[in-house]
Amino acid sequence: MTGTLRFRVLSRDKLAQHTFSAAEDGDLRSGDRFSFSLGHGLNPAWATVEQVHGSDVLVVSEPGVGGEADGLVTATPGLPLAVFTADCLGVVFESERAVGVAHAGWRGLDAGVLEATRDRMVGLGGAPLRAIAGPAIGPCCFEVGPEVADRFPRSLGTTSWGTVSVDLVGEARRRLTDMSFETEGGCTRCDDRYFSFRNGDRTKRMAAVGWIR
Ligand SMILES: [Zn+2]
Repeated sequence: MTGTLRFRVLSRDKLAQHTFSAAEDGDLRSGDRFSFSLGHGLNPAWATVEQVHGSDVLVVSEPGVGGEADGLVTATPGLPLAVFTADCLGVVFESERAVGVAHAGWRGLDAGVLEATRDRMVGLGGAPLRAIAGPAIGPCCFEVGPEVADRFPRSLGTTSWGTVSVDLVGEARRRLTDMSFETEGGCTRCDDRYFSFRNGDRTKRMAAVGWIR
């Protein structure tokens, strides 16, 4: 015996789905979601939240803005859940019965928003089997001061200009060891395909979207 299968895997015809938008899809927070939704076979009426860099997570069953939170979960088929990012990390959680999305900058990661989203899905009877992290500012660019660095001793890096940085995706991976963890997309600040707050996109946001078929 050479090893054990560490994680149960989602079946090929899994119900939970995800996608991450890019700059070419436009600003999906305040802009028009219709064409993006059409392209992905989604209802253009999404469930979202007023993101506040915290760790509150809402269970939702209807579209609309659900209030102040940074995570959403649902077991309702056909309801897209979305968080919006430009450097922060968007994570989609998939299970056999539920889906969740979380918005995580360094404050949200530190506050435990990823673990809170996972726990809410467990409460819905759908413990996540898989987390998919979208594009976010990388350790190549996410320069931080000591007050931030001190919170992430396991996930420090070095920017391309030689200063201390934090690896948000690496920190997320270290916090979600009880499921498979995948990444899609690169560094938002040094790749023009993405919006980047630190690179001047003060209002435009990309979307991390999860739904159940
Ligand atoms: Zn970079």
